[in-house]
Amino acid sequence: MKPSTDLNDALMARARQVIPGGVNSPVRAFRAVGGTPRFVQRAHGAYFWDANDQRYIDYIGSWGPMILGHGHPAVLEAVQKAATEGFSFGAPTEREIELAEEILSLVPSMEMLRLVSSGTEAGMTAIRLARGATGRSKILKFEGCYHGHADALLVKAGSGLATFGNPTSAGVPPEVVQHTLVLEYNNVAQLEEAFALHGADIAGLIIEPIAGNMNFVRATPEFTRRARELCTQHGALLIYDEVMTGCRVALGSAQSVYARLIPGFEPDITVMGKVIGGGMPLAAFGGKRAVMEQLAPLGPVYQAGTLSGNPVATACGLATLREIKQPGFFDELSRKTRRLVDGLGAAAQAAGVPFSADCEGGMFGFFLLPELPQNYGQVMKTDGERFNRLFHGLLQRGVYIAPALYEAGFVSAAHTDADIYATIAAAAEVFKSL
Ligand code: PMP
Repeated sequence: MKPSTDLNDALMARARQVIPGGVNSPVRAFRAVGGTPRFVQRAHGAYFWDANDQRYIDYIGSWGPMILGHGHPAVLEAVQKAATEGFSFGAPTEREIELAEEILSLVPSMEMLRLVSSGTEAGMTAIRLARGATGRSKILKFEGCYHGHADALLVKAGSGLATFGNPTSAGVPPEVVQHTLVLEYNNVAQLEEAFALHGADIAGLIIEPIAGNMNFVRATPEFTRRARELCTQHGALLIYDEVMTGCRVALGSAQSVYARLIPGFEPDITVMGKVIGGGMPLAAFGGKRAVMEQLAPLGPVYQAGTLSGNPVATACGLATLREIKQPGFFDELSRKTRRLVDGLGAAAQAAGVPFSADCEGGMFGFFLLPELPQNYGQVMKTDGERFNRLFHGLLQRGVYIAPALYEAGFVSAAHTDADIYATIAAAAEVFKSL
């Protein structure tokens, strides 16, 4: 299948000369799975074509944003029109208001929001806002959750609950993460202990409600309920990082899924990204009016951005949200995603491969483990070698899933049932060889 002159290899060799590791975001380099990354030449619908003009069914979709598939006609038209009117003004536009109104109507726990250009910026500022609004310093986060690469969030667990975390990146001084405590996901006892020890100093708790950065792990309803109660009781803000899950697992995002299980459930601050920008650099954070009015220019918490609320990005986001709001959109997307996950499960079972999977809306995850994991430690029990063979087997058959076992997958409205069946058939072949 591999052509004698592989143009991906050639591009990677060239890229390595000018870009560290050849990529502009580490996971793209295929370091975990080995082999050469596919350089994308163009994409359409559910597919992209690499430098060799090889077609792949795309289950990454730019890591979540492409919920309509690539090049949706209505989105393309909106982006083209916006581009002709101007790329960036650094002054307010009506479209920013429209997008803010649209997002707030979908996620009513937020009364106000601010638009930024990346999930990292949104998460970083949400933390600053929680600290500014409470006058406290400490932050709780969970092992296996990713909230962007702001210094204070690049942390792994310290030696115990009384001690705060250690940096996961060089260049982050220990002093910078001394207020970040890292706990085990879904561990209610640890959560209670952390609040008992530090409650009066905790500004906020940040969590991915369905963690897509350890593949796909749901917070249990009990854990979610306790997190909400403890934050309220101790005056800390509950920050939902819905950069990945926002308008992806449901129109109302993951918080709407939990609100069905826990009546009245709401986070205090929500961080959004990916789908709300439809593939353009756009993210947001929002919450109750009183908290949001702490931001500059009204309040003392500083935040700014040259390209924030970019007119082309907001056009792309608005057009995307208008499509996903159509009646039945999420029912159909969920049905397809469920069909994929069930089909993969049946194929794995037929081949005797240990397998478990879960999905919500257009987001899914699967594990080469007999049972769904509950936390990062359990996720990492996956046989990495076996996952890599699965990844490359699928890639050779024209199916592109995330090149790391701790990443989620995404189905778009452009995936047809035929694409789903072709994927299951490809996986059935690969499972037999695992
Ligand atoms: N939060 C979550 C949950 C994410 O998945 C990501 C990125 N995958 C981020 C924050 C950071 O977003 P960005 O890459 O746009 O900075």
